Amino acid sequence: MKIIFLDIDGVMNSGNHCIALYNAGTPDFRCRRFTPQSVKALNWLLQDEEIRIVVSSTWRLSWKIDELKKHFEKEGVEVADRIIGYTPNFPREKRGAEIQHWLASHSCDTFVIFDDDSDMGEVKKRLIKTDNRVGLTMKHVRRAKKWLDKANQDMKQAIGSE
Ligand SMILES: [Mg+2]
Repeated sequence: MKIIFLDIDGVMNSGNHCIALYNAGTPDFRCRRFTPQSVKALNWLLQDEEIRIVVSSTWRLSWKIDELKKHFEKEGVEVADRIIGYTPNFPREKRGAEIQHWLASHSCDTFVIFDDDSDMGEVKKRLIKTDNRVGLTMKHVRRAKKWLDKANQDMKQAIGSE
């Protein structure tokens, strides 16, 4: 299984999109609306059916998983069965420690982290950092696909099937 640890603020929503909504007369003061190009990028990556999403965003503290899935769907992300959980919440730790804890207690072949922050500690090498003004783009998901596919090739070579 390939895992994406997904932040939401600055990844699925973005400063520029919030400003655009405001200027269009449909302000989104809580920044709940996702950036259309980020939705498109995530959907492109999710064409790989081995990918599952674990939400690392603080949204996980106030949204039940079913509510979050519905919101993702409403915003155009095709994910109902792809969001499989949340990272644990350790308020005094870095986000990276929460991710490491999840990895230690679940099986996972490979992973990437999408986040606009860098507080990833030891798992920082798997971080694909977004710009919070822009959010997730095709550039980010193409890089993620390379990383996730490479791990699969390494695995196939290791078990001698390729
Ligand atoms: Mg963020």
